[in-house]
Parts: sequence; C-alpha cells; structure tokens
Amino acid sequence: MFDWLIVGAGFAGATLAERIATVRGEKVCVIDRRDHVGGNAYDELDAAGLLIHRYGPHIFHTNSAAVFEHLSQFTRWRAYEHRVLARMADGMLVPMPINRTTVNRLNGLSLTSEEEVEAFFSAQAEPVEEIRTSEDVVVSRVGRKLYETFFRGYTRKQWGLDPSELDRSVTSRVPTRADNDDRYFTDTHQFMPADGYTAMFRKMLDHPNITVMTSTDYAAVKDSIPHRRMVWTGPVDEFFGFRFGKLPYRSLTFRHETHDQEWFQPVGTVNYPGEEVPFTRVSEYKHLTGQAHPKTSITYEFPAAEGDPYYPVPRPENAALYKQYEALADATQDVWFVGRLATYRYYNMDQVVAQALATFRRIETTLPRGDGG
Ligand code: FAD
Repeated sequence: MFDWLIVGAGFAGATLAERIATVRGEKVCVIDRRDHVGGNAYDELDAAGLLIHRYGPHIFHTNSAAVFEHLSQFTRWRAYEHRVLARMADGMLVPMPINRTTVNRLNGLSLTSEEEVEAFFSAQAEPVEEIRTSEDVVVSRVGRKLYETFFRGYTRKQWGLDPSELDRSVTSRVPTRADNDDRYFTDTHQFMPADGYTAMFRKMLDHPNITVMTSTDYAAVKDSIPHRRMVWTGPVDEFFGFRFGKLPYRSLTFRHETHDQEWFQPVGTVNYPGEEVPFTRVSEYKHLTGQAHPKTSITYEFPAAEGDPYYPVPRPENAALYKQYEALADATQDVWFVGRLATYRYYNMDQVVAQALATFRRIETTLPRGDGG
C-alpha cells in the first residue's frame, strides 16, 4: 500500500514526490506513461553524444529565490543568459524581443537613446480603443509594420489562429524594449542545470520512499497500485473522462538534426517569423549546455494541431470549459491537481515548482502526518 500515487514524473510530480517522501516520510509511487522521468524538460544524449532536449529547448529562469534554492539541492548550475535572433526573409538577423538594435538595423537608423526609440514606437503606434486581442497589444505599442514583421506570421504558425482571434495574454508575454538589452529573459536567476534536467530529476526521485514506474499509464494500473491519495499532473479533462469535451491544446513536432560542423547559428535560438517556412524556430543546444563537441545538434519546431498537449489555447470559451473541470477537481476528495496540464495554464518550469511547493504546504496544513487513513 502506497500513501500516495503520483501521476506524472515532470516538475510537478517530482517536486511533490520528493517533498512528501523526505518531509512527511510517506511512501510514494510515481508513474509516467512516457519511458522516462522529467516530463517535457527531459534531456538525453543523442547518437553523436550531444545533450539535447527531446521536447524542445528548456531554459531555466526565475525571480523566485525560494524556487531556485529548492532546486539547488538537486543540481549544480551553469550560468546562462538566453539570446534570440529573428531571421528576416532576406537572411538579416535582428534581436528578439524588439530592442534598439532591432529598430536601427531594420530601418537603417542610428537611434542612440531610449527616448528616441520610445518616440519612434509612439510615431508608429496605432491608437486602439480597447486592447482585447494579441494584435491590439502589439499594434497599439509599436505599430503595424513591426507587428507584421515579427508577430503576425509567427503567431499564425504557432497557434493556427490570427493574432486578432487570440487573447491579449499571448503577445503580452513578449516585451518591447527601447534599450540595447538583448537577453530573452530578465529574471534574477538564469541558469541551466550543470549536468542536465534528467540528472536533476533522478536526484530528486532517488529516495527510499519513492518508487518510480515509467512506461506506465494510469488507466492501466489504477486498480492494481493500492494507494490512499493521489497527485494528478496529467490533463484534467482526461482524469474526468472528457465528460464536458476535450480541452484544446496546440502541439508541436520536433525535427532533431546533428550537423558535422562546430556551430550552426550565432545564438541559442533563431526565430523564423515569416510564413515562407513552416517552422517557428531553430535551437542549438551547445549554446545552452556549454558542451564542447566538434559536431552540433539542433531542433526545428513545427507547430501542429494534433499531438502531445503542449500549449493551452488561450480563448475565453476554453477558459470557461476549464472552469467546469476545475469545479469537479475541487470537489474530488484526496486528489490534488498540480502542474500545467492539470490546471490548463501555460506555466514555466519555475512556476510549476512554485505551484507544487504551495500544494505541499496545503497538504501539510490539511493532512496530519502519518494519519494512516
Ligand atoms: P509535464 O512536464 O508535462 O509532466 C506531466 C507528465 O505527466 C508527463 O511526463 C506525462 O507523460 C505524464 N502523464 C500525463 N498523463 C498521464 C497518465 N494518464 N498516466 C501516466 N502519466 C501521465 N518552461 C521554462 O521555464 N522555460 C523554457 O524554456 C520552456 N520551454 C518550453 C518549450 C516547450 C516546447 C514546451 C512545450 C514547454 C516549455 N516550458 C518551458 C514549459 C515546461 O515544459 C513546463 O513548465 C513543465 O515541464 C511542466 O511540468 P509539469 O510537471 O506540469 O508537466
């Protein structure tokens, strides 16, 4: 008999498994239908011996000292600041998010101060009465030309929807800068796990109270693994048998390639905002990992309607459908719903860890330890 069955060995499941096993001393069984731990953050050596991320590039960044300190128990870190360039149809590379260099390079200008760049944005910006959609966010800030160059095609590829049909939150995530800062993230902690994500997960789960079973689907074992309580980190609609319908997700397919050359591109990720190619971006892992190797491995990302659930589609009707499932989840005794699939939200890794740690605090206040029932 396990005290807990945890479905999913990603950040949500592994964080809770470790806390419950270590702090509460309870017995935990962690299952995952994939053949590995780590969830979407899983990394592995490819045939050439290069460390790659099977589900696309994962860069750790956080403003939370608590999350950073928590994970530091399970890994050493390598300082890494991610940089992204956008490739124009003519091959020109410009920094993304848009900054002063982007504006100068695209327009043949030599603006030198933030005031000048802000004045440039203001002159381009179109007034929008009520900012509702992703298109409104960008057009009202930097105007239609920059919107069309960087956002329209990219968003249409990424989501299969025009930015005018998407919630404002999608493009609000991407800042526009008047200075020369070309880092993709500005968080206080920006690091990669020195030995990779999978090594960090193995350390988290290496505890005598934790049993890990991969290639194990919940549906196949739910009646054969006796347990008192459960943490569910899979899709919330799947747990309830899709009773109100399927929550829509956008998916991706990845094309991994190894090239017989030391470097492929100048930075970790190059975005392809134009609709002349079907992929959105290409990432080269050696920039992220610091690995020295005569060859290099890259990943192309092709957005897809079908496949693994990656990005909840941010439209009001989907939020309303999720609310129905959330009400069921809240009413389900002894099951805790945690992580990006169980709460139908786009969360970064640090946010999932923070959510799992908050869930653990709730478990601690509501369930006496070793109550046996
Ligand atoms: P997951 O990692 O998805 O883990 C859930 C696990 O549950 C899965 O392994 C799944 O197989 C398992 N599961 C589901 N249902 C069942 C079932 N019925 N039975 C058994 N097992 C089941 N975040 C960042 O902070 N930085 C980044 O750079 C970044 N890049 C990303 C790039 C891409 C392409 C994607 C898709 C996401 C990215 N993220 C990034 C987000 C990051 O992947 C997530 O925040 C994190 O992995 C979520 O952890 P999780 O445990 O909630 O879910």
